[in-house]
Amino acid sequence: MAATLDTTHFPGNVINNEFVPTVTTRHSIDPSTGEPLWEVPVATKDDLDNAVKYAREAFKTWSTTTFQQRAEMLLRYADAIEANREPLEKLHTMEQGKPLSLSKTEFDLTLTWLRAFATMEIRDEVLEDTEERTIYATFPPLGVCAGIVPWNWPILLGLGKMGPALVTGNCFIMKPSPYTPYCDLKLGELAMAMFPPGVVQVVSGDDELGPWMTEHPGIDMIAFTGSIPTGKRVAASCARTLKRCVLELGGNDACIVCDDVDLARCVPKIATLSFLNTGQICMLPKRIYVHERIYDAFRDAMVQFTRENIRTGGGFEEGVVVGPVQNRMQHLRRRPPHRPKNRPRRRRRLPQRLPHHPLHRRQPPDTSRIVTEEPFGPIVPLLKWRDEGEVLARANDSATGLGASVWSRDVARAERMARRLSAGSVWVNSHFDVAPHVPFGGHKESGIGMEWGVMGLKSYTKPRSLWVWKKVFEDAPAST
Ligand code: NAD
Repeated sequence: MAATLDTTHFPGNVINNEFVPTVTTRHSIDPSTGEPLWEVPVATKDDLDNAVKYAREAFKTWSTTTFQQRAEMLLRYADAIEANREPLEKLHTMEQGKPLSLSKTEFDLTLTWLRAFATMEIRDEVLEDTEERTIYATFPPLGVCAGIVPWNWPILLGLGKMGPALVTGNCFIMKPSPYTPYCDLKLGELAMAMFPPGVVQVVSGDDELGPWMTEHPGIDMIAFTGSIPTGKRVAASCARTLKRCVLELGGNDACIVCDDVDLARCVPKIATLSFLNTGQICMLPKRIYVHERIYDAFRDAMVQFTRENIRTGGGFEEGVVVGPVQNRMQHLRRRPPHRPKNRPRRRRRLPQRLPHHPLHRRQPPDTSRIVTEEPFGPIVPLLKWRDEGEVLARANDSATGLGASVWSRDVARAERMARRLSAGSVWVNSHFDVAPHVPFGGHKESGIGMEWGVMGLKSYTKPRSLWVWKKVFEDAPAST
């Protein structure tokens, strides 16, 4: 039985299987209380350079291990996380604000994902096999991959990058979000006992660290999850060294509800999903288009269900579904711009908790910000539609294309509509299903490349065509 993890002490970044303290430290806050949490390191450029140097050194040996060896280590790592999941789940609710039940869900998913990655070997593909020659597609690892992680889902999205990087034979450096560094640092600490030095490192810092990583010539690939504007900066920076990058960015998912649905079945699901994690998930119903024949009934049922079932409060309160908004930037972004110009700005006191109650916006114009922009908070517009072609055009009329859904009893019709939606994941009679063997990513500005599934794991490799001519020297005399 592994020693219990101390989740109240953060001695340093995890570099080459050692804690490396930093001269400067910082802390983030518990969004439920506004109280400061523990001090964590602020990496310097030298710290990052060292991590990259150790990773490059470790890669020489790590890349020669077999898939089986790597998978076994990943499984032992998953077991170590499982043995410590209870304090980690509490720590996660403190740093992220999500209800404890949702922290548990995030750890459940993460363990399932890690264990699934440990079964997903990327094998050579035989493209041609004749007497004369065999041609393979092979997938060697890239080298040193870095994961840049957001604050909304930092366990699954952090280890959802680490697992694929490791099983495909890469070394991995994780950078947590400055808002949620705590669990990711502890996950690095657990990895120290599981992997050789330099294979898994966690480097936490301030706003300078991400750009240092994307510019670094010793890093071969960036797996980034975050907002669209930052994603564009990451892509531009990676271009300078022609670094590979996978970008999982923001979304503004359309959810189309047809007039034949059973409201009692679909409203609870759509309402719960709309406000899950306080609306701070990339793929949730963010624009709900309801057929005009059932619009009023759907709206009333949605408002009633939300009032009766979506309890708000602190992450440790019993039965809470919607916790606080994670950070002040999000909180201010979501507030409607109603303050008259001449009214003085109220001075904001800190610390202060960041609560938020779910809101529905009824029939805002298609051009309003709540429809055109990702709110990333517990607020959702309810829009009316009449004609199938028209609603598909409105759903696709977005710079984003992460997820989308169609809800109907007529599954054939819904599937036909779904196939016309431009998004990386499209669901019929559901939304936000994800699985470790199913790739996910975005169309348009929602991203480049896919993560998870065989397709996603291949993003951590450099595909190589290998041509083997077998008979060229058959008739030639053996050289002496
Ligand atoms: P963000 O873009 O502000 O930050 C994401 C990460 O990038 C953080 O670790 C941050 O420190 C780092 N970063 C910031 N500037 C950087 C730079 N110039 N170079 C390199 N790294 C930099 O995003 P956020 O606010 O943490 O996350 C919320 C956003 O993420 C939302 O838009 C949401 O839709 C999106 N998201 C997308 C997915 C997906 O899979 N598509 C999943 C979750 C969240």
